[in-house]
Amino acid sequence: MSKFISHTEARSRMLERVFPVDTEQVSLSRLPGRILARDVSARESIPPFDRSPYDGYAFRAGDTVQASQGSPVTLRILEEIPAGSVSHCPVTEGCAVKVLTGAPIPDGADAVIKFERTEFTAETVTIFSPCKSGSNIVRAGEDVRAGDLLVKAGARIDAGLLGTLASQNIPSAEVYRVPRIGIISTGSELVEVGSPRIPGKIYDSNRYMLCAAVSKLGMEPVLIGQAADNVPDILACIRQGLAQCDGLLLTGGVSVGDYDLTPDAMEQAGVELLFRGVDMKPGMACAYGVWEGKPVCALSGNPASAITNFHAIAAPVLRKLSGQSSCIPQEISVKLVNGFRKKSPGTRFLRGMLDLSDGTVRMRVPSEQGNAVLSSAIGCNVMAIIPAGSDAIPEGTELKGFLI
Ligand code: AMP
Ligand code: MG
Repeated sequence: MSKFISHTEARSRMLERVFPVDTEQVSLSRLPGRILARDVSARESIPPFDRSPYDGYAFRAGDTVQASQGSPVTLRILEEIPAGSVSHCPVTEGCAVKVLTGAPIPDGADAVIKFERTEFTAETVTIFSPCKSGSNIVRAGEDVRAGDLLVKAGARIDAGLLGTLASQNIPSAEVYRVPRIGIISTGSELVEVGSPRIPGKIYDSNRYMLCAAVSKLGMEPVLIGQAADNVPDILACIRQGLAQCDGLLLTGGVSVGDYDLTPDAMEQAGVELLFRGVDMKPGMACAYGVWEGKPVCALSGNPASAITNFHAIAAPVLRKLSGQSSCIPQEISVKLVNGFRKKSPGTRFLRGMLDLSDGTVRMRVPSEQGNAVLSSAIGCNVMAIIPAGSDAIPEGTELKGFLI
């Protein structure tokens, strides 16, 4: 048994303490990707009137009861209704109206026939078989009825939802503000990308990695800065970040070494620590807490640890902050294309790529899964979880996992 809590327990502890940011009214064109803050019900039925799904003729079904190949029925055409127009006279016995796709069904008519199934002139249409009342009519409200719940708060606005809002003549919607997520790198060894190489120093890659991860969640990354391994430096960054942002991500200094000072600085900033360390590899070292409802997630400096822990714990927490109702990734089963040769005394997270090449969903696992190896994270879109106490995993094994 690990001395650390599971990633699911860690996630729950944070999710209990973090709530969505406030809301704003935003017009349609700026809504894609935003998170709805209120349920949306239909204002009107769609389609708003009975309409024709085809180019054809509308008539009274009763007129065609006797129609057959040998003895067809010929109806007189009263008028033509293109889409966007309405009829001027009701359809009476022995008459028809030419309708085009999307046109409203004229009063009196209760059936439509496609023009391909008729013979016609400019004045008449001839029908060769009986038609049922209601045939080829799309009823008002068949898609959506006025008052129907269209979508619940917490949904991300996609193409379908945006189109639905527009079809309802809804010009704007109340959505959650885009959370601003501050990013702080800690470590005296870090230099900024673009500066000359200095012996013993490394470039700060985590800040860009986390920027990309935050952007992908639809949130705004805010670069707060870089702190050396001392409490005053880290504390200053945390204070600045808390003042400017809705949540913070830090990397570095969360283990138990002499220079691991991030948790101390978090506490001095007034952050309530909810846990330190999680049973996962990579990503074990971490410290999470909240400050006035704002999540503060401190991850390991090791890039692969940081990104693994981010996907397992921080990302769901940030999704909740953003108002998304489905913040925990759905569990999926994946079959490994290749095996993994090491034992897993604790819970292990494998990063990999979905492989759909033979028509089934499988996962390709780069062999290098070390906690400092970031190159093998390029292109990863899925994580699989090896349960604690497992031996080496042969290829073809099915594991639980989630998409990232
Ligand atoms: P730490 O979590 O501070 O013990 O750091 C673990 C490892 O990650 C060390 O090798 C650090 O040099 C490295 N590291 C820390 N911060 C970063 C960063 N921002 N970018 C890249 N590597 C880092
Ligand atoms: Mg360090």
